[in-house]
Amino acid sequence: MSKRASSLPEEKAGRSPGKAAEKEIERLAGGYHHRILWVDLSRGTAEAVPFSAAFALKYIGGRGFGAKLLFDQLSKIKDPLGPENMLIIAPGPLTGLYLPGGAKTSLVALSPQTGIYGDSNMGGSFGAELRLAGYDALVITGRAEELSYLWIDGGEVKVVPAPQLAGKGALETEGLVKEEIRSEEVRVAAIGPAGENQVVFATINCDWSRNAGRSGMGAVLGSKNIKAIAVRGGEDLPVADVAGLRLLTERSLQQLSSHPLFEFWQQQGLMSVVDYVNSAGVFPTRNYRELVFEQASEIDGFKMEKEYKIGDSACFACPMACGNICLVKNGKYRGTVTEGPEYETACMLGSNLGIGNFAAILKGNQLCDDLGIDTISSGNLIGVMIEAVESGLLSPEEVDGMDLKWGDDDHVIALLGKIARREGVGDLLAQGSRAVMERWPQLRPLMVQVKGMEQSAYDGRATISMALAYGTCDIGAHHNRAWTVGKELEAGAGWTAEDRVNLVIYHQTIRPLFDMLGVCRLPWIELGFDEHRYAEYYSIVTGVPHTLDELLARSRAVWDLTRLISASRGVARKDDYPPPRMMERPVEKGPFAGKVVDRGEYDALLDLYYEKRGWSAEGLPPAERAGDFSDPLT
Ligand code: SF4
Repeated sequence: MSKRASSLPEEKAGRSPGKAAEKEIERLAGGYHHRILWVDLSRGTAEAVPFSAAFALKYIGGRGFGAKLLFDQLSKIKDPLGPENMLIIAPGPLTGLYLPGGAKTSLVALSPQTGIYGDSNMGGSFGAELRLAGYDALVITGRAEELSYLWIDGGEVKVVPAPQLAGKGALETEGLVKEEIRSEEVRVAAIGPAGENQVVFATINCDWSRNAGRSGMGAVLGSKNIKAIAVRGGEDLPVADVAGLRLLTERSLQQLSSHPLFEFWQQQGLMSVVDYVNSAGVFPTRNYRELVFEQASEIDGFKMEKEYKIGDSACFACPMACGNICLVKNGKYRGTVTEGPEYETACMLGSNLGIGNFAAILKGNQLCDDLGIDTISSGNLIGVMIEAVESGLLSPEEVDGMDLKWGDDDHVIALLGKIARREGVGDLLAQGSRAVMERWPQLRPLMVQVKGMEQSAYDGRATISMALAYGTCDIGAHHNRAWTVGKELEAGAGWTAEDRVNLVIYHQTIRPLFDMLGVCRLPWIELGFDEHRYAEYYSIVTGVPHTLDELLARSRAVWDLTRLISASRGVARKDDYPPPRMMERPVEKGPFAGKVVDRGEYDALLDLYYEKRGWSAEGLPPAERAGDFSDPLT
């Protein structure tokens, strides 16, 4: 593959900086290589495209870079699975540095799951290595002629035909690519059979277990005939004030390790959430019909620690080490080894399917990693199938002769394989909630999705702010943009509509900022790590002083940009509502039994939400109101 440096193509990497930006640009002494690697598989080219300091300072990195690059090419993209779609893999300016959680990478594309703006976030070491290879982002367009892997060895870029990898699991593929390259230092991100088969919620996996799970990024890579991306770097990362960075990290590590929950966090990671959520009565169970699971203690973090955990794992240089390596020692899943699960998987492959057998959840987790499918969407859709058969809305014959029942892990394991291979009913489930509703309209009241994305493992009926968080999330019903459950439960009746909306918007601003910087949100969420610290990090690394408020303003503008991308595909107010299950079907069990999301109350929250964002009553940012889809940051 030819690789050449090109001059800045305006349409690719933003406009030239204006006079006002030039002063800041002179001061930008670190944080960026100022290079995006742009690979066009159809043309067989790889260009290192420079970008301006103004572009860097406006969009920061990660999803900010991804949203801008996608926005500028949007008119060319018809089909999310067509060669014209872009897969943008963008770490942030803090990725790969020694600081808490400096390991995250955003993957951005037009989503095949929802048809709108999509992104997902991946930990591990892949993003750090991409930065060490000298790139701030990787853009992949076009389609390779045959199944291949992309090999980025610093300045050398090759597309290597790899028909022998067809049908292989993502985990096996990672090992095979490393073996072929003969290097353990190389970092590999890979898809499983689900990505090759373009399952709309296919994932991309790296470091054996760190997934970009949501929005179907694995299907986008599969549509490009790329089975894996291998990267090896050797450059230094640009940092304006190295001594300052070292001092700040020493302070940060001191602060984190002296937190009273630090050790407990390392022991359980996100599995600690199971016990809390079930005790609070908000643990989705049996397709979200109930919010308390009678076997929660069989699938929580304490059970994991006692009977299954054999080690910790961490993303690149992260002291939090929240990954749990587990082994099943007995029974029919004996010998299963996997990293995880975390809370979402324990719920979606556990309580949501009536499964109280932790070994079965571990098996499901390991299968999803290897097949390359999202555990949340998979568990959500399988829950719908079980309820549909159990309630007589579908016959067993319509689901390949399976008499589906709650707690039947054999059928769940079988369905995961069918989805990835697109066999029988798995072929329909592989196309996501919208396809299921189209084929079987009678299932609409059972579906728990927003904008075509299956909802994560929190409910909106007990805490209406969480319903608003899902309804307005830019990629669909995803919990990571805003999680307001704890705060609303704590605040109780005294919490006003304004409190709810303010918290949702604050979360939807600060959490995406973490994705732009390339850091993990968990130190902030779980151990109260000071969010201002990240503004200090960004200032030290770039040499340009920034306050948190300045960075939040950029994150907010990027949120407008992602909304404009989706608005260009028809998204508006009508798409910002929770699913019928949340609005029409009362909770069956637990302290919130009988609750639904009240339509009038929700409408009032949505009005206030749009008002506070400066959007129209139809949910459109000002640029679109004027009929001009221009970038709010220019
Ligand atoms: S907190 Fe956990 S998920 Fe986040 S970067 Fe550290 S090890 Fe990875």
